[in-house]
Amino acid sequence: MFAWNTNKLSQRAFLACRGLVKHQMCLSQVRLMSSKPEIKNDWTKEEVAEIYNRPLINLIFDAASVHRKFHNPREVQQATLLSIKTGGCIETCSYCSQSSSWSKDTKMKAEKLLELDDVFQAALDAKAAGSSRFCMGAAWRGPSQVGPKQFERVLDMVSKVRSLGMEVCTTLGMLTEDQAKQLKHAGLSCYNHNLDTSREYYSEITSSRTYDDRLDTLQKVRDAGISVCSGGIIGMGEKELDRVGLLHMLATLPEHPESVPINALVPVEGTPLAKKDIKGPTGLEMVRCVATARIIMPKSMVRLSAGRMDLSIAEQALCFMAGANSIFAGDKLLTTPNAERDSDAEMFTALGLLNKPAFNGEEEPFEIPPTREESIRRREEWQALKNVSASGKGCEAIKTSA
Ligand code: SF4
Repeated sequence: MFAWNTNKLSQRAFLACRGLVKHQMCLSQVRLMSSKPEIKNDWTKEEVAEIYNRPLINLIFDAASVHRKFHNPREVQQATLLSIKTGGCIETCSYCSQSSSWSKDTKMKAEKLLELDDVFQAALDAKAAGSSRFCMGAAWRGPSQVGPKQFERVLDMVSKVRSLGMEVCTTLGMLTEDQAKQLKHAGLSCYNHNLDTSREYYSEITSSRTYDDRLDTLQKVRDAGISVCSGGIIGMGEKELDRVGLLHMLATLPEHPESVPINALVPVEGTPLAKKDIKGPTGLEMVRCVATARIIMPKSMVRLSAGRMDLSIAEQALCFMAGANSIFAGDKLLTTPNAERDSDAEMFTALGLLNKPAFNGEEEPFEIPPTREESIRRREEWQALKNVSASGKGCEAIKTSA
């Protein structure tokens, strides 16, 4: 054992040894910092519950450590969400103001699908204001409910907005395989379809579709080669076990969703859930959900979505530390109010956050149609090929061209 009051040789030996230990600690810390945890999708519910229930101070640290291994912790993406078709929806999601089932109470009128030029202008404005992702939501059960003309217009919207170099996401309800492929051919980057809550609690939220319907659309999106955006809503009267159930379901999909929105319920007067007068989640509950999502889906974008207006800057800062790396910007989220851009700009400055570019600033992962005409041409070509194959001449056509 070395002591300070020994001869000079011993002191030098002590200092050298202490330096070595310190050096070794640094190396092991570096090794720890540089080793990325594996991406796993065979989590058990118990494992997810163990993470979710960690002391919050530890959970935030653990999530922040994972976050830094996969993402630049200062970068937060700004996305804009536009309602391209508002109200009159035949579904019965009890949190939603747009269902026709309670439109008398919400006073929400059904509007027509927006025109292409208006949507493009909104995307231009969003890009100019700093958004690198543009999401379009239609209050439909799915495109099949409205027929091909309106869906065609949405495909044009996708192609035109994508030509701006933005990530383009749509949320249009349930998709068929064909619709998913057409969206892909139009240049869609991502499709949003939230699981909302746990399988066990889902029937409390809607009776007009099942959890398996949701999973089916997510699979069709994945099969079409579109990246998946799926998350949930906290504060709908669910138990903490349901939050764990939702996160567990997302993290055990065959591939993690590339994008996981974590929403807090924004009660809208006249909706069934608002009538129940449920106490909303606290900021720290949101932090806990974000942190758990970050640990179990380390590569995904975790989006701090609806309900952000009720969070202080300090609470949002904890969410960013715990792994949230996207927000929705602009004063409206579909039909509910959202934080103003100016206050977000102040928050970015105060926290030292940077605006995350589209596609992480890398080359775009998909080959996108350079013009609207090209997009239409590719979709028509694909449709023609599909018709050939449906008529049984597909093999002949392939043989001829081989
Ligand atoms: S959440 Fe979507 S599907 Fe459900 S009622 Fe609202 S608009 Fe319709």
